[in-house]
Amino acid sequence: MSLDLDDNLPQKVKDEIIKFRAIYNRTGSCHRCGKCCYFYVPETGKRVACQYLSFDSEDLFICAIYDTRPKPCTNFPQARDFNETYYDDCGFNWVIK
Ligand code: SF4
Ligand code: SF4
Repeated sequence: MSLDLDDNLPQKVKDEIIKFRAIYNRTGSCHRCGKCCYFYVPETGKRVACQYLSFDSEDLFICAIYDTRPKPCTNFPQARDFNETYYDDCGFNWVIK
């Protein structure tokens, strides 16, 4: 299994992703809800939109740097993050191999 993991991830997180992906395959596709382009700010307790995020007339997300977006964006989602709420709407899902 070859995973294109973000070099900046802590080793512990990488290990968790590798373990998760040994069990689960990712299925589905992005339907451009944009929910994964909001980031939690611990100081305020709120989620803020990425500076490159906007929406078209059909309310589908647009990334201003799509072709050069960072690895965590191109690879998203790499594993289920049970603390994040966007998974309720995400077009990707996980199935046991
Ligand atoms: S860089 Fe693009 S894909 Fe990544 S979070 Fe920002 S808007 Fe979303
Ligand atoms: S949460 Fe899922 S469906 Fe929505 S933009 Fe992100 S990857 Fe696409």
